[in-house]
Formats: sequence, C-alpha cells, structure tokens
Amino acid sequence: MQEKGVEQLESELNKKTKLVVMLAPSFVAEWSYPEVLLKLRKLGFDKAVELTFGAKMINRIYHKKLKNLKKGEIVISSVCAGIQQTILGKYPKLKKNLIKIDSPMIAMGKVCKKFYPDYKIVFIAPCEFKKIEAKNSENIDFVINYQELNKLFDKYKIKINKLECKGHSCLFDKFYNDYTKIYPLAGGLSKTIHLKGILKKDEIEIIDGILKVEKFLENPKKGIKFLDVNFCEGGCVGGPALRKDLTLKQKKQRVLDYIKVSNVECIPENRKGLIEKAKGLKFG
Ligand code: SF4
Repeated sequence: MQEKGVEQLESELNKKTKLVVMLAPSFVAEWSYPEVLLKLRKLGFDKAVELTFGAKMINRIYHKKLKNLKKGEIVISSVCAGIQQTILGKYPKLKKNLIKIDSPMIAMGKVCKKFYPDYKIVFIAPCEFKKIEAKNSENIDFVINYQELNKLFDKYKIKINKLECKGHSCLFDKFYNDYTKIYPLAGGLSKTIHLKGILKKDEIEIIDGILKVEKFLENPKKGIKFLDVNFCEGGCVGGPALRKDLTLKQKKQRVLDYIKVSNVECIPENRKGLIEKAKGLKFG
C-alpha cells in the first residue's frame, strides 16, 4: 500500500500535482479563518473543501438507520476514528454494534473523487487515528496532521498579510454551507441527525473522552439504543494534534464563532442542492 504521509505529500507539492485539501471540521480551533485558506493555496493546494457535505450525506444514512433499529439493537457511532480503532482492538465483540456508515472524511473523499477526478485528495487531521482509517480507503491519498501542516507552512515560509485575503483564494470551494459544522464538538452528530420522534432522549448517550467511553462500554446503562461517542475530551476540538495554547473552552468557542461567520456567506448557485449530484455514491 502506498504511504500517505507528509514526505509523500511534500514530493507531490514539489511536482505541482493537482491537489484538493480537505480540512477537518475542527480546523478553526487551530487556525484563523479565512486566512488559513490563503496559506494553503500558497503552499500549493488548488482546491480547499470542508467536510460539511460529506457529513450531511452520512447524516441522512444515520437518520435512516436509527429510524429502523431492530428490537433490542444497540448501535455505536463510527464517525470518530479513535472509537473505531478502540472497539476493533479492545472490544471486538462490539464490532457488530459499530454503525457501518462512512466517516465524514471518507464520505467527502468520495465526493471529491467524483467532482475532481484528476486531483489527489489530502486530509488535514486532528489526530493520528485518521491516518490509520485512511489507509484502507482509495478515496484519500494523503493524511497529515495539524502540526505537520504547520511545519510545512514554516518550512516553505508561507506567510500572509491579512489584506491579501480577498476573493476566491480566501473562500472554500463550497459544496454545502451546513449545520454539520458543529461536528467537531461532542454530541455534534446526534444534534444534527434529526432524532426527534425517532429516539427518546434517554435512549441516546453522548460520551466524550475514552476513559468515560470505556467505563460505559464495560457497564452499559439499560435502555440506551444509540451511543454518540468521541475518543477525545470535548470531541475533535480536543484532538491531540491541535495547538496547546488554547483551552478546550476557547477552541469550542472558535468553532461556534466560525459557524456564525460562515452562515452569512453566500453559497454559489451552482453549489446548491447537491444531494442530487451525489447520486451513485455509496456511503454505507
Ligand atoms: S475525537 Fe479525537 S480521536 Fe476521534 S476523530 Fe476526533 S480527534 Fe480523532
């Protein structure tokens, strides 16, 4: 299997390969928006996308799955790569409970491969678990973490002046400006899959932080049907590859502020209603 790390990516950047960069939704906890987009383009990425559209597509499948749970069935969310790998490695008996739906990263990789067939897809990750997850996917060509990207910015002396930040270079190549931007916060998944009328509050358990998750798995509460779980405290904003000079509360606030800013940005006409255009892609 081809290595998908920072050295291989650097060689593609030097060869001027056409690259799409996909930013994990916690990116605003690490960098300023929209300045980071200009830095990425200066580094050599042609297209820059969020995971929101991929998240939207998998949300629809989660909704359907949770609506049609069999009697007595208990399911565990699989959007967090750390949870996937903990269950596979430490709780193999629970493998059957992991929901078999793509993570937003894999789903968005499929969307990008469809829309940008001549490009290689690069994911910027908040943790190392995403690298393991991507190894098995032909839709993600490279994964580097936040600190590895910071090192590339330093190595290639990528600096920007805030005044330079205007026009397309400082905008995402948008697919969907969506409510799934709260994904990097604990409970973000269950808040966005429209569970009202499908599951009662006391049938859903949201847990962040692997110690608490393991405690629950070893002694599950009765009546729970859906576990929305994250390996990291606070969700992906608590990911190990994020900067250490901000508190979790500050990182969470940056995500909430970003949602307000990006919600007022307009979506180009040709990017609206793309659900139809994802036809033919399978996210399950
Ligand atoms: S919660 Fe942590 S381990 Fe899970 S995907 Fe996010 S950063 Fe990675």
